[in-house]
Amino acid sequence: MPLNDLSQCAVHTMTNKPWSLRQCCDAYAAAGVAAISIWRNTVAPEEGGVGLEEAVKTVKGSGLAVPAYVRGGFFTALDDADRQKAIDHNKTMLDEAAALGAGQVVLVVGATPGLPLAEARKQVSDGIAACLDHAQQVDVKLSIEPLHPMYAGDKSCVNRMAEARAICEALRHPMLGIAVDVYHVWWDPDLEREIELAGQQGTLLGFHVCDWRVNTRHLLTDRGLMGDGCADIAGIRAMVERAGFDGFNEVEVFSEHYWAMDQHDYLALIAERYRTVT
Ligand code: ZN
Repeated sequence: MPLNDLSQCAVHTMTNKPWSLRQCCDAYAAAGVAAISIWRNTVAPEEGGVGLEEAVKTVKGSGLAVPAYVRGGFFTALDDADRQKAIDHNKTMLDEAAALGAGQVVLVVGATPGLPLAEARKQVSDGIAACLDHAQQVDVKLSIEPLHPMYAGDKSCVNRMAEARAICEALRHPMLGIAVDVYHVWWDPDLEREIELAGQQGTLLGFHVCDWRVNTRHLLTDRGLMGDGCADIAGIRAMVERAGFDGFNEVEVFSEHYWAMDQHDYLALIAERYRTVT
């Protein structure tokens, strides 16, 4: 099998969490990585970031493409004021994404303990609907990322591609689509069909690569790097490409194990795994 080059490779800043935005930009560009997906904690001062103006300067200067700004969503809440706050926050993220040149804001849609899932899903659909005009104004798309069902309690009431598609079909808006993350959907028996449908419906906006470790040690911070686990990453990549996706393959790995490594050594390993098993 031929090796992949890095021309379609993006890395999420969260993958190299110990690094600042500038360190990520410098190292990715030097390694030949084509793009960077930016997590808000590297940008927003209230989350420890460098500020939008500085972030924009750094990213534009790097020459890297920016497929995604991460992560918006969290539309569910027990009261209306918090739901409105979430909508306002997503609009702010859309503005920041536009300034950074990002093509989409990825949505982790939310789930709230005590709120029935059916009600949560309605709140998500309503919350997204309330942001779509703004998305159009600033020309940044919103991508629903279905999360693995182990997060249905408090992070995402949308757990399968089919549920994300249902929202897209209900709202039918050119700025709305789906981000496919291998970690969350590799097990879905309908995955191939759903990816094909997303391709047909023009909603296949993002593709995130990582791996599912068979012996997961932590629900959030023990993702595998491609090749560490059992997900058929190359097979799923072939599915999205057959469906017409020609965007970046975004390496997104939350891992205490890898965050503890020398990040330059880790980036070299990411590039090697990208070349050989993505
Ligand atoms: Zn993801």
